[in-house]
Amino acid sequence: MAISECPECTYHIPLPPNIAVGDIINCPDCGALLKLVSDFPPVFEAVKEE
Ligand SMILES: [Zn+2]
Repeated sequence: MAISECPECTYHIPLPPNIAVGDIINCPDCGALLKLVSDFPPVFEAVKEE
């Protein structure tokens, strides 16, 4: 399973098996909203809420 790092807290997040670029998840550690912006390598970008 691929692992990526939370840009907010550096927690190592295991990627869900069916995640795709553009999907948004919550960091399981800090709760930040993260959008997958690349899948190879997997990179998350924090989503800032208005
Ligand atoms: Zn986090």
